[in-house]
Amino acid sequence: MKFRKSIMMAVAALGITAVLGGTSAFAATYYHTHGFAKSAVSVNYWKDSSVASYGYTGLADTGIDSWRNITDNLTINEKTSEPTYFSIVTYVGNTISGMDVYGVVDHWTYGLFGWTQVNPDNLRDRARVRMDHTNLKSLGSDSTGYALKKYAFVHEFGHAVGLKHNNSGVASVMSESISSSTNTPQITDKTYLKEKYGDN
Ligand SMILES: [Zn+2]
Repeated sequence: MKFRKSIMMAVAALGITAVLGGTSAFAATYYHTHGFAKSAVSVNYWKDSSVASYGYTGLADTGIDSWRNITDNLTINEKTSEPTYFSIVTYVGNTISGMDVYGVVDHWTYGLFGWTQVNPDNLRDRARVRMDHTNLKSLGSDSTGYALKKYAFVHEFGHAVGLKHNNSGVASVMSESISSSTNTPQITDKTYLKEKYGDN
């Protein structure tokens, strides 16, 4: 899979071969300090009907659930109608236009006059997860394929809650190298989530 990043779209993408950027000793390299604030926050999770119609309800819920209960300061509540502020909204499509990835995450601010898409390092209060059925399906339907799809979902929701790629070489579900064996938040991922939101 190729990795493509749109300058205008500020999109975080998951590819299996690309390793972009260098490593850093600074922890903040691996999470966005803005967006949902660096403090206790309650985030609203919502699934578009496309998630169920493509058959990904379980994987989407598994993806978001994996980031619960790591820090008490990040609370995630599912909503039955589309939320606005402090929300993670989830969609599945059949080929994301211009992309060759399993999923993307966009970050938005919501204001009186509508939506503004922002760079993830800027203040934002909404994330949109878009998963690509065509590329997910290519991972196969056996147990390994399921484990890889789970990685893709957990990884994208990791972006949604504010984590960046972690290609430092330690086990991380935020690595751009998709893996069937590290498809849950790893120790390093939990550490950075706790740093971002604070931990009680
Ligand atoms: Zn990614």
